[in-house]
Amino acid sequence: MMTEMVLATGNKGKLAEFQRLLEGLDIQVHSMKEYPEIGEIVEDGDSFAANALIKARAVCKATGKPAMADDSGLMVDALDGAPGIFSARFAGEQRSDADNNEKVLQLLEDVADANRTARFFCAIAIVLPNGDEYTVEGTCEGVILRALQGEGGFGYDPLFYVPDMGKTFAELSMEEKNRISHRGHANRKAVEIIRAIKNA
Ligand code: IMP
Repeated sequence: MMTEMVLATGNKGKLAEFQRLLEGLDIQVHSMKEYPEIGEIVEDGDSFAANALIKARAVCKATGKPAMADDSGLMVDALDGAPGIFSARFAGEQRSDADNNEKVLQLLEDVADANRTARFFCAIAIVLPNGDEYTVEGTCEGVILRALQGEGGFGYDPLFYVPDMGKTFAELSMEEKNRISHRGHANRKAVEIIRAIKNA
């Protein structure tokens, strides 16, 4: 019987959003911050799913509880999928959103509007103490603008324009973004897996 799980994130926004999605399932969701014994996890996988699994396995092993981890990033077609798994530190270890956005803009300077397609990608891994492992993925299609647009969000949000919405991610409300985003889609698939495990 699954009654609790540990999320491999210290991000309060991600934790709150997932807690909301699990409402009614009677599962207590912990942050990995509650478990200092987990220590540093080296994310050296070569895909989003590999990195999510590395994190979820480490958290499950250290806590003995079901664990869930996500890994996400931006994939730009004209850059052969970059920044990809290196999204957070694309412009360097200082992990600056402004520098990362600037680097994408510069690399795409000579790329025509029609070829500026991109997608956000999110992989989520769930690892259980009995060794069972699950991964799910979510994507969201968009276009990279030529300048930042919008004040909300984080990361590459102000550059990522969603034609269907007529807005960038940075111009969407939290609710709108959760409805269409890579993480929103992956989160909902993860909830379905957790529901199935719980009912098994
Ligand atoms: P993480 O896996 O959620 O830590 O995300 C890794 C990096 O991908 C972030 O630091 C951002 O640069 C980028 N990223 C992931 N999801 C989003 C998003 O929803 N908006 C903007 N940037 C994102």
